[in-house]
Amino acid sequence: MVSKPKGDQMRRIALAAVCCSVVWWSGQSRASAQPAGWTGPLVVVIGIDGLSIDGVERAKDPQLHRMMEQSAWTLQARGVMPTLSSPNWESAITGAGPEQHGITSNGILGKMSKFEPVCKDAEGHFPTIFEILRTQHPTADIAVFHEWPGFADLLEKSVPNVLQHGGSHEKITAGAMEYWKAHHPALLFVHLDIVDHTGHDSGWGTAAYLKAVAEADKDVGELLDMVKQDPNAGRTYVLLTSDHGGKNRNHGGNSIVEITIPWMIAGPDIVPGQIQSPVYIYDTAATIAWIFSLNTPDCWIGRPAIAAFRSSAISARNGLRTNTSSPGCEPAQRPAIAVAPASAPSSAATNLLGPGHSKE
Ligand SMILES: [Zn+2]
Repeated sequence: MVSKPKGDQMRRIALAAVCCSVVWWSGQSRASAQPAGWTGPLVVVIGIDGLSIDGVERAKDPQLHRMMEQSAWTLQARGVMPTLSSPNWESAITGAGPEQHGITSNGILGKMSKFEPVCKDAEGHFPTIFEILRTQHPTADIAVFHEWPGFADLLEKSVPNVLQHGGSHEKITAGAMEYWKAHHPALLFVHLDIVDHTGHDSGWGTAAYLKAVAEADKDVGELLDMVKQDPNAGRTYVLLTSDHGGKNRNHGGNSIVEITIPWMIAGPDIVPGQIQSPVYIYDTAATIAWIFSLNTPDCWIGRPAIAAFRSSAISARNGLRTNTSSPGCEPAQRPAIAVAPASAPSSAATNLLGPGHSKE
């Protein structure tokens, strides 16, 4: 029911996108206040935990709709299973699913159960967008402000210049804005949890839930104004998404309302309007990497959502980016396994790894 945009409402947004696409960046001076040492693009990610499609459509959320008018967007993006926060936020920041990064449950409920990641850095972590940005641009300023404390467990804690937890969505937004105005980080990730909290307390789709979406909507408006009023607006992207929806007072199940998430991006080179091709939550990191022209690790599976970008931007970047192994990400060591063909006598077991490897 809520997996598709409501026809009239979405058509209005699509039409508004055509006529208003210039407004987002108009009137901005691009000549001043360039952050020292970083002249590349700036990316602000707004992650609204537990924001459902129903919430986007039904809440009083003019700022989310303002964002959509200026964005390439879809209300049919897919998260990953299980529809919990840790596996999904990890997917958003690593460009891969639980099958690759190994996080399969929610850290906040105790020890995150996970299996060995497909590849890992020296500290054993599946590489996030923060790490590959840091590795390939050591001076890039990276900032993470998160309302849900468990978010910090999903990334390399030593990588961001700032990794700050705050107890309310207002504090998180205020802290992120203060930092952004002072430092203009290359990558700012803002995680807001009020919507998910309220979903658990009162139920997804309830009046209280929609009110919480409206509260988060104010934060979105402040962050959009922050970018719009800044001299660096012309090189700043804003990407907004969620980790999962919800059902009754929970999520983690396998319903379409839990796994469908909004995904939208505004900024230079973006073609406003509905994205027609599929977008997955792990495309988030891949899209950010593409904006920064980063090499992405082979163990990522996400693809940049290039349908959101102008063709001129796509051709300009295609010559820059290759998908090769990234420094700091080595394939996880696999145990030496000798496999005997089922029909062969045990004495003739074949060591498929060749000379020098023994069965352990
Ligand atoms: Zn939750």
